[in-house]
Amino acid sequence: MSGSVPESASPGVMAPVKATGDRVVRALSNDDTFRVMVAVTTETVRGAIAAQHAMGATARHFAELLTGTVLLRETMSPQYRVQAVLKGAGGRGSLVADAHPDGMTRGLVQLPEGIDGLHFGAGNSLMVMRCGAARMYRSVTEPPENGGVAEALMVYLQNSEQIISVAAVGTHGKDGAIEHCGGYIVQLLPGASRGPLMVMTERLAALAPVGELLANAHGSAEELLEELLYLIPYAKLGDSDVHHGCLCDESAVLASLATLPRDDLLELAMSDEVLEIACDYCTKNYAIRRAQLQGLATAS
Ligand SMILES: [Zn+2]
Repeated sequence: MSGSVPESASPGVMAPVKATGDRVVRALSNDDTFRVMVAVTTETVRGAIAAQHAMGATARHFAELLTGTVLLRETMSPQYRVQAVLKGAGGRGSLVADAHPDGMTRGLVQLPEGIDGLHFGAGNSLMVMRCGAARMYRSVTEPPENGGVAEALMVYLQNSEQIISVAAVGTHGKDGAIEHCGGYIVQLLPGASRGPLMVMTERLAALAPVGELLANAHGSAEELLEELLYLIPYAKLGDSDVHHGCLCDESAVLASLATLPRDDLLELAMSDEVLEIACDYCTKNYAIRRAQLQGLATAS
C-alpha cells in the first residue's frame, strides 16, 4: 500500500471503539458459567420510532423488540442478520425489527386502522428469522399470555435455541420521551450447573427495571455489565456499534417494481405523474422516472 494513504484510512486498522453511544457488549464469566450480552440502543430506537411515527406504549414495545433483536443477534454467529416479528393478540398488528451484522438496525410498526397498539395476551406470536450466507432459519414461538417482549425472548431462547436465559429489555424516560433504552440477556452456558443460575436469577429479579438500571449507569453498557456481574470475575469478549439506518436504495426499489406485470409497468410509464415510492422502513422517497419504468417494461 502506498505510503501516502493516511493511517486512519488503511484497511485492517480499527477505529477505537467509543465508550459511549449505542452499542452491544458481550462478556463471559471467568468460571465459564455465564455469558452476558448488554445492549444500549437509545439513539437507535429513537431513530426507528421517529421514522415509524410510533407513540406511547407502541413506541415502548417497538423499542423493546428492536433492543431484543439486537441482543438475539449478539447471541448468534456474528454474520447473522436477525429479524423478529411480534404479532399482537388476535393477529391484529405487528412490530418488526431487523438487525444487521454491521449493527444497522431498523423496524416497522404495522397496525391496522383503528388499532392504537399491539395487544399482549393469548394469541401473541414471536417469529425470529436468522439469515446467514447460505441458509435461513425461522422459528415461531408463542409468548406467555401475561408477559411482554422480554418474556417472549426468553421463551424463544428456551424453545428454539435450548439455552436457559434471563432477558430484560426496557426504556426509561418522562412524558413519553425515551431517555434511555437497553437490555440484557444472561445465559447459562451448556455444562454449567444450575445452582449459580438460581443465585443469578434471584439477583436479577431483585434489580430495578433495566431502563432504570441504565439511567443509573449513565447510559453506559460497561457500567450495566458490571452491575449485572457484580463480584463475578469476567472477560469482555466483544463490543460493537449499534445504529439506526436503512438498506434501501433506488436499485432495490426498481427491483421490486420489476416484479410487476408488464402491462402495469406500461400503464405507470404512460402516466404524467412522477411515480413516488417511499421506503416502508425509513420513509425515504424515491421518484421513479418514466424512462426507468419504460426500461423495466421492455426488460420484462
Ligand atoms: Zn429505507
